[in-house]
Amino acid sequence: MVERTESESRKLLRRLRDTLAEAGAGQERLDRITHLIADSMRSEVCSIYLFRDDETLELCATEGLKAESVHKTRMRLGEGLVGRVAKASSPINTANAPAEKGFRYMPETGEEIYSSFLGVPIQRLGEKLGVLVVQSKEARAFSDDEVYALEVVAMVLAEMTELGAFVGEGEALAALHKQPVLFRGATGQEGSAEGQVWLHEPRVVITNPVADDPKKEQARLNEAVAALRLSVDAMLTTNDGVDKEQKDILEAYRMFANSRGWLRRMEEDIARGLSAEAAVEKEQSAARARLESVPDPYLRDRLHDLDDLSNRLLRILTGQGSDTGAEMPPNPILVARNIGPAELLDYGRKLKGVVLEEGSVGSHASIVARALAIPLVIHAERITTEALNGDRILVDGDQGVVHLRPEETVASAFRDKIAMQAAAQSRYASLRDLPATGLCGTRIQMHMNAGLIADLPSLAGSGAEGVGLFRTELQFLIRAHVPKRAELVAIYARVMEAARGKRVVFRTLDIGSDKVLPYMKRVEEPNPAMGWRAIRVGLDKPGIMRMQLQALIRAANGRPLTVMFPFVAEFDEFRAARRHLLDEIERERHLGHALPERVEIGAMLETPSLAFAPKEFFEMTDFISIGGNDLKQFFFAADRENETVRRRYDMLNTSYMSFIEQIVARCAEGGTQLSFCGEDAGRPIEAACLAAMGIRTLSMRPASIGPVKHLIRKINLKELRAAMDEARAAGAVNLRGPVMSWLSSQDI
Ligand code: PEP
Ligand code: MG
Repeated sequence: MVERTESESRKLLRRLRDTLAEAGAGQERLDRITHLIADSMRSEVCSIYLFRDDETLELCATEGLKAESVHKTRMRLGEGLVGRVAKASSPINTANAPAEKGFRYMPETGEEIYSSFLGVPIQRLGEKLGVLVVQSKEARAFSDDEVYALEVVAMVLAEMTELGAFVGEGEALAALHKQPVLFRGATGQEGSAEGQVWLHEPRVVITNPVADDPKKEQARLNEAVAALRLSVDAMLTTNDGVDKEQKDILEAYRMFANSRGWLRRMEEDIARGLSAEAAVEKEQSAARARLESVPDPYLRDRLHDLDDLSNRLLRILTGQGSDTGAEMPPNPILVARNIGPAELLDYGRKLKGVVLEEGSVGSHASIVARALAIPLVIHAERITTEALNGDRILVDGDQGVVHLRPEETVASAFRDKIAMQAAAQSRYASLRDLPATGLCGTRIQMHMNAGLIADLPSLAGSGAEGVGLFRTELQFLIRAHVPKRAELVAIYARVMEAARGKRVVFRTLDIGSDKVLPYMKRVEEPNPAMGWRAIRVGLDKPGIMRMQLQALIRAANGRPLTVMFPFVAEFDEFRAARRHLLDEIERERHLGHALPERVEIGAMLETPSLAFAPKEFFEMTDFISIGGNDLKQFFFAADRENETVRRRYDMLNTSYMSFIEQIVARCAEGGTQLSFCGEDAGRPIEAACLAAMGIRTLSMRPASIGPVKHLIRKINLKELRAAMDEARAAGAVNLRGPVMSWLSSQDI
């Protein structure tokens, strides 16, 4: 029986392929296909519904229903049985359609006389394209083999749709990957860019979904799977040093690669007439469809693993590697599901922007994009399915929005915005060598944040007076192993040389929380941002911290050295970390190495507790830098990584500003220099308010220095402070309103 059905479905597929090979416009082909399927499946009706837009399905071709309903009958996603098949991405098979939940018949089609209904989704790698339906008068449920055969046909249709087989005169379907699409994601890094799509992993195109010789296809599949297994085994043996999580992923790969179920399903697909690559892709599509409905993060990860593995197998089978020989376009915007920090750094500043389907504000890729000052949009769901290499794309990192293949009007408005930003930047360039002094004569020091040697040229270009925060974790994140001390010495020395005597504040390793080193044992923590991170790791396992401190002392090689410890929550932590640094200096002295001419030791104030530390803490600390990103999240108890709450509280909230005022007072009392290095320092209005509150050093992204300096030079900080105090005295909960109205009364 199975044998007969298998050869039936093979026959059907072959007829389908021949039909598709015939010349003809899109509509003509669809009509022939419905006729062919109805005939082969001995059902009176076969209809193809395709998506007109994300929400609407349209009857595009039918055999058996009334011809005048074609291109007239439409339904919304989830509406009627057809809409339900599309929504759930799974078949509906019933002997009694009118009795089925959600049934709604369309009178113009004349379908009321058909009792049985079988609908399967037409989808490609999780992309919903439409629904394929067969109906018959006889009340009978379709057999499993018939369901299966229709699914295989739907998959071939999806594949052919991808190749544009149904486009043309009388357009049955608008061509795929041609329409403008808007993606609403989230901001990973601000900035705007226009360019062309560069897919990190180019999509594999299957041109031969149907095959004649199952034996040959079976042999091709076996060969490819054997090659895949070998490559996974090789990854496992050559990646001895990888952490447990990566090992788990590779083990999962190995498990899937050896899974009988996975292989058997593909073998069955081949026996029914699919080519080896179409069989792999069918499995991949099924995994992606499942992914949409699985809430469990562990299972989702495994389905992602299966997806990756299918991609590898497809590349082996089609010979389409990552390197397709395509040339990178002139203004590449990288589009990927996700990307590691080292890979992103490899692309470097060549990229004009990055768009990811996954990622998070604090992910390694985001950190690198921020360091490279490339606009980044994250959570642009399904963009890798939509975008093709070379497509025009606009990235709006400020709004977290991406326009793919934009209409000309959108593109030109976007270009105007970029031009305005560029004009403002060139206006700011004229301020480069001028001080950030308010009209009241208050001088604010402007420093920049950095994390790569490649950032250092900005020191001269932006007019920054020093590096107020050098994040040292990037050098650790992009390697597969702990960097050697000598490597770090060389990097830090180059940073100091590039700074040409300007002060560089080196922040010791801030890992843990969202920044997990690839080679570090991952500790499962319920709330990593409040867990074992930064100085807590450094003090509990001082090996790496001491090595880093030695590297900094040696890199200074007689020059002044400035070291800052992150995430200090209490005085004792600072005291202990400082002791480590002084011990290392002592050790270097014994070894006869050159010692720094002068050492400044500071702490980041990122937890409210530190603001209430004893007076001795402020006296002992040479300087304090407020890490506003962390401080704000802990002050308001609002996770900086959580899209739902991260923008909920405003820095200009009165309680927060009053807290900043207290920190300023405590530092003044202890004679401690104070700076602010969180993202808010780079926002002109926020920066002006921090300066008005008494903070004299701000450290920010280089691109923010111009706009911040521009505003500070235009205003009297004392008067701004008076306006803020007045609003506070009047009971304002938030100072933004009063500050904005004060600013609008100024001649700026
Ligand atoms: C901060 O928390 O404000 C800060 C500058 O450190 P990071 O953003 O690296 O946590
Ligand atoms: Mg921080």
